[in-house]
Amino acid sequence: MPQTYREAYEGLLPLVEKPSRYLGNERGTVRKDLAATRLRFALGFPEVYEIAQSHVGLQILYEILNRRPDVAAERVYAPWPDLEALLRARDVPLVSLESHVALSDFHVVGMSLQYELTYTNLLTMLELGRIPLRAAARGPQHPIVIAGGPGAFNPEPLAPFLDGVLLGDGEEAVGDICDVLLAWDGRDRSAVLRALADIPGFYVPSLFTPRYAADGTIAEVVPADPARPAVKKRVLADLSRVPPPADPIVPNLGVVHDRASVEVMRGCVKGCRFCQAGYVYRPLRERNPEQLAEQTTELLRRTGYEEVSLLSLSTGDYSGVNPLLKELMDRLAPERVAVSLPSTRVDALSPGLLEQIRRVRKTGFTLAPEAGTQRLRDVIQKEYREEELLDAARLFADLGWRSLKLYFMIGLPSETEEDVVGIAELAGRVAAAAGGRLRVTASVSTFSPKPHTPFQWAGQLGIEETRARQRLLRRELGRRRIEFKWHDAEMSFLEGILSRGDRRLADVIETAQRRGARFDGWSEHLRLEIWREAMAEHGLDPGFYLRRRPLEETLPWEHLDAGLSKRFLLQDLSRAVSGLLTPDCSIERCTYCGACDFEAVRNVDYHPEGAKGGDHRGQGISRWAEMVVPDEASGELPAWETRAFRDIRTRVAARIAARAPQARASAVAAAPLPEALDDAAHDGSAPAGEGNAEEWLAAVPSSLTPDAQAAPAVQRIRVRYRKVGPARFIGMRELGTIFLRAARRARLPLAFSRGHHPLPRLSFGPALPLGFSSDGELIDVELTEPRAPEAVLAALRRELPEGMEPLEASEVPRSGPSIEGTIAAFVYEVDLDSLSTPPSDGAVASAVERFAGASAFPVTKHAKAGTRSIDARRLVRELALAGPRRLRLELAVEPTGGVKPSAVVGALLELEEAELPVLRVHKVATHFHTPA
Ligand code: SF4
Repeated sequence: MPQTYREAYEGLLPLVEKPSRYLGNERGTVRKDLAATRLRFALGFPEVYEIAQSHVGLQILYEILNRRPDVAAERVYAPWPDLEALLRARDVPLVSLESHVALSDFHVVGMSLQYELTYTNLLTMLELGRIPLRAAARGPQHPIVIAGGPGAFNPEPLAPFLDGVLLGDGEEAVGDICDVLLAWDGRDRSAVLRALADIPGFYVPSLFTPRYAADGTIAEVVPADPARPAVKKRVLADLSRVPPPADPIVPNLGVVHDRASVEVMRGCVKGCRFCQAGYVYRPLRERNPEQLAEQTTELLRRTGYEEVSLLSLSTGDYSGVNPLLKELMDRLAPERVAVSLPSTRVDALSPGLLEQIRRVRKTGFTLAPEAGTQRLRDVIQKEYREEELLDAARLFADLGWRSLKLYFMIGLPSETEEDVVGIAELAGRVAAAAGGRLRVTASVSTFSPKPHTPFQWAGQLGIEETRARQRLLRRELGRRRIEFKWHDAEMSFLEGILSRGDRRLADVIETAQRRGARFDGWSEHLRLEIWREAMAEHGLDPGFYLRRRPLEETLPWEHLDAGLSKRFLLQDLSRAVSGLLTPDCSIERCTYCGACDFEAVRNVDYHPEGAKGGDHRGQGISRWAEMVVPDEASGELPAWETRAFRDIRTRVAARIAARAPQARASAVAAAPLPEALDDAAHDGSAPAGEGNAEEWLAAVPSSLTPDAQAAPAVQRIRVRYRKVGPARFIGMRELGTIFLRAARRARLPLAFSRGHHPLPRLSFGPALPLGFSSDGELIDVELTEPRAPEAVLAALRRELPEGMEPLEASEVPRSGPSIEGTIAAFVYEVDLDSLSTPPSDGAVASAVERFAGASAFPVTKHAKAGTRSIDARRLVRELALAGPRRLRLELAVEPTGGVKPSAVVGALLELEEAELPVLRVHKVATHFHTPA
């Protein structure tokens, strides 16, 4: 019987599809002595490892919390259904990855709400973690369950399950939460919740009670304390106060975003009216590009990643994007590290930006035109011109890209059939502009109105209406030979219900979860009939939640203040109705959305100047500003400029010429604003560091550094390493990435193959089956500069994850045989005690005896091509008892293959096929062919 949860999990992992999801042995993992730390903080993410571990916000909090000596933060992710079934069957709780501690043994559980369709997973995690689902049922012995992330801006459907919710930025607030919990005597739960409610940005749902009108709408939300009718979000005013994580966890398993990620800015003031993140994370707060270059370089050195993504809601709009990219590419291209940007706004592209991105690798490019017609683009505030999109497509093709993904939405407010067909027409024009050189894909999702946006009052398409528009698109795109990808209509439907839902939906979520709803964001798992039944059972109508909301209706999230005035959202909605654009407040003028207090909180950017009220820091870093604007004497399209930069430069030039306050010439139309809000008084009239600006205008960009050519390999080092403990569940594909990143971190001069997709010259021996441990794994590492084998050994020893231990290294001739070609046989030991019903010593001994006397030994062999029976007698060189219920086998490796020790033992003891994965097999030695 397992004594600890760690042992219990070790027994379960051979039975699940991807055991490496649950190992917790990644590089960068922090494992503290939990008994010696005062506060145990579980960071939960209600999704599977590959998605959860990709999330940067979680990494940020992990690092901040673990820096405190009095706090230990560990990760807990949703178990995949295969593990969930085993946990239930064997009565084992959900535990943290690091210390295998049950969720219920933490003091606080912080859940990240990134997507509405993870809500049932959150409940499953609490249930498996042995925490009462309802906050009201928890006692002093239970953890405080809190949530954060974009979903926190309308957490009402989850409110009864949550003790608290953090609205907004967590970097500073999480420390305040820890302080309150550390000061708590652990007795009166309501007292600690009241203390937490004093933290700016912290919402305690039980301190607010919604009352409903007869028609089902919210009549009012009654606060327990009338002096506090709303909770305002927390804002980290200056991102430079919290540097990006310097030493993040590097997953062993290929995750969704398997790369280093650096957040270059938070917030976005472009004002796309459907985008919740663009509103709730205002104002714009950029990081210093010079510091980012240093931090990113250091991050890559520490992690060994081969790609870095510059993250934000719209990285093409980051004022330092071009100089930062150029600087990073100059530093990283010789090391074959690629830089990628997430989906990019069309008008934020520039030729210089693309030129930089393609220098190492042509990472897939995604643009977000969002709507197919100019009319609808004006409605949703997409400022680009079609010609810019077509120019970008030509440029992609010219620069060697072969595919381009275009994101669109259907169901946007005021959409007509013409707009839907317009998507296909626009995608067709993009493909034509590229002269057939680009494979264009239209990826189309269904618009779901989000709280705290100007479209929060809009209606959402139902399932049938969505499918009708998808059919139309399939036909129209097919005609133009454009590939079509669409978002599942049922998922959008459920997302729409939950995102603008109220507290009554908590019963529906709980019922759906109890009936088996899991991973609703995965089309193969979503079972909408469960949800429909649950809604009917609780007397709720999906249409009620998807409907258009009257402007005067009290919305379920109105007591949660995302920093946006209702007046601004209404004004912006009226601009949408008239097809008018709202100015970008970082470079044009403030439109008084409410996000800034213009003292501590305001736009922070690295433009040399911009709209009044912002903190424009570009003049402080003229070396960077110099690189932004090229010499345009040639009249050529400036390589470094985006439209936003061009607008700023034009205004700076005009101001210098006039030496007088300039009249504002807005390129965009603005809806009439009330008198008091008119920005005449805010027109930029103060001189703005003209000396610097002139310098900035006159600067020319430095030329691009040519890419490094692949240096030839000069040395081959063979390393023998041990693979034990959690590492026995690391698969062959993952090993390649782990060694590559370890070698990068160790600064080993790895050789790469030539060609379009250079690969590191790392060669492994025959694959060790998942779950087997070994003292004798081999890898060849080829280097471009000679290194002492002992130095390679020491470097890898420092950098490999727990359970992978290099044992010896030696130089082998570069022209010598491959590892595989040198191996004659492997020696294994098999522990029969790992079986659920181990055979008796006598049964094992007589089976071994029978084998010794047999001339043939049929074994079932499973391969991709199918299952067949082979005579393995010749391959089994030795089979003997190595101790009580312990076998030793020497199995020959032949050019045509070998046989698995578990298969041999299975045949020997007539075991069921299902029992074979739990056999503990250890490779103890490798025998090599004698050199001729
Ligand atoms: S308050 Fe003004 S400057 Fe600040 S984010 Fe809103 S619109 Fe922009």
